[in-house]
Amino acid sequence: MNNFEKYYTQFVQEIGNKEASVSPTLTNSASFAYGTPEIAEGIFDGSVKKPLYSRMGNPTTAKLESILAKMDGGIGAVATSSGMAATTLATMSIVSSGDEIISIGGLFGGTYALFDETLSRFGIKTHFFDVDDLQSIQNAITDKTKIIFLESVGNPNMRLPNISAIAKIANDAQIVLIIDNTITPLSISPLALGADIAVYSTTKVITGNSSALGGCAVFRAINVDGKDKFKSHRYSDIHKFMESAGAMALIPNAKKRVMRDFGMSANAHASYQTMLGLETLPLRMQRIVKSVEIVAKELDAKGLNINHPSLEKHPHHQRYKTDFSNGCGTLFTIDMQSKEKAFEFLNKTHLATITANIGDSRTLALHMASTIYRDFDTQTKDFLGITEGLIRVSIGLENPQDIIKDFLKAAQ
Ligand SMILES: *Cc1c(COP(=O)(O)O)cnc(C)c1O
Repeated sequence: MNNFEKYYTQFVQEIGNKEASVSPTLTNSASFAYGTPEIAEGIFDGSVKKPLYSRMGNPTTAKLESILAKMDGGIGAVATSSGMAATTLATMSIVSSGDEIISIGGLFGGTYALFDETLSRFGIKTHFFDVDDLQSIQNAITDKTKIIFLESVGNPNMRLPNISAIAKIANDAQIVLIIDNTITPLSISPLALGADIAVYSTTKVITGNSSALGGCAVFRAINVDGKDKFKSHRYSDIHKFMESAGAMALIPNAKKRVMRDFGMSANAHASYQTMLGLETLPLRMQRIVKSVEIVAKELDAKGLNINHPSLEKHPHHQRYKTDFSNGCGTLFTIDMQSKEKAFEFLNKTHLATITANIGDSRTLALHMASTIYRDFDTQTKDFLGITEGLIRVSIGLENPQDIIKDFLKAAQ
């Protein structure tokens, strides 16, 4: 689990100040006084690096952005008001009407609705595929394909993608690869595996205690002199930012083409709360990915129908052992066969908190078909792996033996 060890040092050292307030400075101001008209002009033309207005950037949020960018080896990051806002920022910064998206995996409900309903209203079509459908993915690529969108772990179908293989398809075809890494921060490094943009809902395990809604998109450096230079198909729309911002081009592209006009900016107080959570992320992740394996194994052995790739019966067990050696996040699912049985379980558990969130310090659980996926038709639910009795569980920091005891009692 060496992946976590590195960040124990990095996060606490970077988040705390070495002078004055130890806790990160919270700049709770929407606007900033420029002092003189000359400085105002300089801030607006970019020659003076001072805050302009909190919709376009805030010092507290900037600190969070720099830490998350470093975490993923990105050249920069843009924090947003929610995880959905990060996905919207990343995708809308790349596509225009008439373009197409290829979406892979058992998608988060909000992302599925964004692609299937909302973006289609603006003339952007999305094709959906299972993680192992590599040939169909390859066949679906056309000149209009601008983005391949992938979740690092299917939520809640728990299927694991072969990220390197998908990144190769995207790279060979000069298509922007966006990976939603909400479930596996630190465990998976999307940019190192070939993604152009990593998106996060920081609401989940990064903050880890339900105290702040937030998101972030982390961008890779553009290779201005190499293969990304102006002939690059994938960045055909952002050449002007390559000229003005060079390797940083994806950041002004996202800020000026989406953030400025759609306004999904992070709130400084949420950024502060997120940094407090981030300090303990490696510690929590390391414990939880271990607990998930312990609890999943024991419950499955006791006859509950558990879906998690650490179990030998899972079709991606091998991939779990090789590509996901730092775990695949806090989730597993239990199939109770019927809605009645699922409700009975949820009514009987004393330990799990019933909520739509995931990645919390506490163990959380939710019946899928009657909540997040209630508006989806049968065919879509089948594709996303939503069965009538499916409960999604997000394991917390409790003693795993306490969780096992409580769940076995609830299932009786
Ligand atoms: C929760 C979640 C989102 C959306 O995040 P919000 O902060 O709720 O907007 C996106 N992707 C995944 C995988 C999620 O779990």
